[in-house]
Amino acid sequence: MKKTGFVYHELYTWHDTGNYAGFMAPGFPLQPGMHNEHPETKRRFKNLLDASGYIDNLHLIKPREATEEEILRFHTVDYLNRVKEMSVGSGGDAGELTPIGHGSYEIALLSAGGLISATDAVMAGTVDNAYVLNRPPGHHADADQGRGFCVFGNIVIAAKHALANLGVERIAVVDWDVHHGNGTETAFWEDPRVMTISMHQDNWYPQGRGLVTDVGEGKGEGYAINMPLPPGSGTGAYEAAFDRVVEPALRAYKPDLIFVASGFDASAFDPLGRMMMHSAGYNSLTTKLMTIADDLCDGRIVMAHEGGYSPYYVPFCGLSVLEALAGHKSGVEDPYLDFAAGMGGHELQYSQDQLLKQAEEVVQRYHGTK
Ligand code: ZN
Repeated sequence: MKKTGFVYHELYTWHDTGNYAGFMAPGFPLQPGMHNEHPETKRRFKNLLDASGYIDNLHLIKPREATEEEILRFHTVDYLNRVKEMSVGSGGDAGELTPIGHGSYEIALLSAGGLISATDAVMAGTVDNAYVLNRPPGHHADADQGRGFCVFGNIVIAAKHALANLGVERIAVVDWDVHHGNGTETAFWEDPRVMTISMHQDNWYPQGRGLVTDVGEGKGEGYAINMPLPPGSGTGAYEAAFDRVVEPALRAYKPDLIFVASGFDASAFDPLGRMMMHSAGYNSLTTKLMTIADDLCDGRIVMAHEGGYSPYYVPFCGLSVLEALAGHKSGVEDPYLDFAAGMGGHELQYSQDQLLKQAEEVVQRYHGTK
C-alpha cells in the first residue's frame, strides 16, 4: 500500500470557459452551448471520490498559487501579462483555442502551483506518489501562448521547479492524453534532463506534431519519444506501448521522478478522441508504471490531470488510477466497463504493431536497449 497525495481545489472548477459550442466560439451558425473543457468532468471525478468514501484513503495536499517567477521559468513576460489582463477584464482567448474567463489568471496559478505542491510532497517523502486533479490543464501550452485549452504548462513549471530546487537531475514525463504533449515536448526539446514520452492519436491535435521521427534536437536528441497510435487503439496497443517502448526507455534513462500527463480522453466514450481505453486499462498502465518507478526512483510518480471530456466516464477512469496508486480497492464497479471492454479490436492490431516497431527502434538507437 502507498501513501497517495491528492490535490484539488474548488476554484479549479471556477475557471470559466464560457458558452462555446464544443471548442468553437459561439455565434451563427454555432448555437451557444458548453465548452468541451467544462468543470463538470473534473468535479464529478472529485464527487465520486467523496460519494464512495475513497477520498479517505488519500492524503490531501493543499495547492498554493505558483509565483510569477515560477511561471516565468517557462512562459514569457508578455504572455503572462496578456493572461493577467484578459483575466482582470471579461476574458478572451489566450492564444489558440484557450478561453480565459474573468479570474482565470489566479486559478491558472493555483493549477500550476498545485502540481508544485504535489511535487514538493513526493520529493520530501511526505507521500509516495500523488494525483493532481487540477484545471486548467497544461500540456499544450507554449511559452508565449495558450493552446488547446491549456493556459500555463503545469508539468513544465513543476519540472523546472524540481530541477532548480529539489536536487532532481533527470525527469521523465509520460503523457497518455489522447492528444500530443506538444508544450512539454517543446519546452525540453533540446534538454536531456527531461525525457518526454507521448502516446497519442496520430495527427489529431496539434496537427503535424508528435511524429515517431520527432526525437528532440541538440543535447536533447533521443530524449523525446513519440507514439502516434492509429485511431481505434485499445488496451492491447496501450499495454504494448508501455511494455515495448515506455518501460525500456525509462529503465535506460533512470529518472529521479516521473510525471504523468493524465488525460482520460483516450477512453472509449470520449467526444474528443477516437480510442478505446477504459478504466481497467488505465489501472493496468498505472500498475506497470508503478513497478518501473519502484525499481528506479522509489516509486516517485506525480500525475497531473489533463484532458478527458466525458463527464460520466472520466470519474471511473480517475478512480481506477487512484486505486492503483494508493493500493486500495474502492469496491466501486465501473458500470461501463463491460461495454468498453467488449468492443472489437482491443488486441494489438497490425498497424499499431508497425508503429510500435518504429518507436522501439528510436529507443534502441538512442538508448541501446529494447
Ligand atoms: Zn487531450
